[in-house]
Amino acid sequence: MNRVKNKVAIITGAASGIGRATAVKLASEGAVVVITDVDDRNADGISKEIGNGSIFIKHDVTQPSQWEAVIDLTSDRFGKLDILVNCAGITGINAIQDPENTSLDTWRAVMGVNLEGVFLGCKCAIPLMKQGDGGSIVNISSYAAAIATPMAIAYGASKASVRQFSQSVALYCAQQGYKIRCNSILPGAILTPMWDEFLGKGREREKRSQEITDDIPLGVWGEPDDIAYAVVYLASDESKFVTGTELIIDGGQSAQ
Ligand code: NAP
Repeated sequence: MNRVKNKVAIITGAASGIGRATAVKLASEGAVVVITDVDDRNADGISKEIGNGSIFIKHDVTQPSQWEAVIDLTSDRFGKLDILVNCAGITGINAIQDPENTSLDTWRAVMGVNLEGVFLGCKCAIPLMKQGDGGSIVNISSYAAAIATPMAIAYGASKASVRQFSQSVALYCAQQGYKIRCNSILPGAILTPMWDEFLGKGREREKRSQEITDDIPLGVWGEPDDIAYAVVYLASDESKFVTGTELIIDGGQSAQ
């Protein structure tokens, strides 16, 4: 119930999927959550669902000025920041992503959200976190960081960079004596709206879904809560000796 009691958390991409499940879980464990997302269609509904004094801010993670506004509002409203979860992400799979034919626009769009968004989040959050008792940064990478992705090169490269970047942030903060930890999570196939475009509809969806689960040793899709539970652990003081590491949560897929 109180694993992150009285901690203040910012979660990006929290209107949907993994981010939303994480916001619900952190709030249920006592945190106040600043929910941010570029999609504000259901902002009121999400704040009500999460409760516990949490607020929603419309926020595009690629925009430095919007990051500054989110940090300023968090500081003004709550006086501190203990947890940052960089979860916003896009696959970019609506565009070609092989090494020969990927457009520079596609490459930059995917890198902009998945990598620059994480960089900006850490850059803007560290000064506020270090003013208080330190904190925990959790960056959502992907199983795609650990394998070759010949048809999703921008996505794979962005997520591999997040993995390495998170370790650099962890060591930098430790060296500076900031008491800020930083870790990444590498989710496998988690059934969220992110998969809708790839899976399609009806029988096609069933067939493609089966192909995905056939490749997962546990034989099922992961659920957003499977990642949210891990974030709670990394965000809480239970993981006070854990920094610069990564948690692979993929039903055994990468162990094959
Ligand atoms: P999701 O359901 O699509 O949620 C992602 C959220 O991020 C959406 O609300 C999306 O808004 C928002 N977003 C997109 N661009 C943004 C921007 N520039 N600024 C702020 N918010 C933005 O996806 P998910 O599956 O929960 O994915 C969450 C994270 O987990 C992503 O980083 C993803 O790469 C990672 N991940 C997911 C899986 C998986 O199997 N689901 C596996 C590995 C890693 P729109 O809907 O308007 O775009």
